[in-house]
Amino acid sequence: MEKTKKIALVAHDNMKRDLIEWVEWNFQVLAHHNLICTGTTGRMVEDAINTKLSRDGRGAPNATEVLKLKSGPLGGDQQIGAMIAEGRIDIMIFFWDPMEPQPHDVDIKALLRIAVLYNIPTACNRSTADFVISSNLLNLDYMPVIKDYSTYIQRALK
Ligand code: PGA
Repeated sequence: MEKTKKIALVAHDNMKRDLIEWVEWNFQVLAHHNLICTGTTGRMVEDAINTKLSRDGRGAPNATEVLKLKSGPLGGDQQIGAMIAEGRIDIMIFFWDPMEPQPHDVDIKALLRIAVLYNIPTACNRSTADFVISSNLLNLDYMPVIKDYSTYIQRALK
């Protein structure tokens, strides 16, 4: 991971307010990284950061452009999972809804699995997101340890 991180942000509908509030608290930090979101979350995150930047007098960076993927239920979670597998996501902030089933529950499970497999720092609630965003490692080069799966890949099959 380089110093500028590739941060995925996703929130289910009932959690979007929470995520946007968190983004508004942390817009200065987030604006220095590359942000990738599912469609609807992305529009809201981009809007929230740019509104805060335009009102901020502290020599803010230029307007943030969020990479917006498909909406979650239309494949956006799977796109993020694929990006993780390709090494194109460093950190994931994923406020999934613990109270309501989603039409794309299987995609959510797959995304969480792939994030664990690739040892991606993953925050599924606000306090974990606070710890991640305030970590010293955020602004350092950091190489997550990935398990060696070569034995699995080269296993003999009859
Ligand atoms: P959305 O998708 O950002 O397009 O709402 C999020 C999700 O439901 O996974």
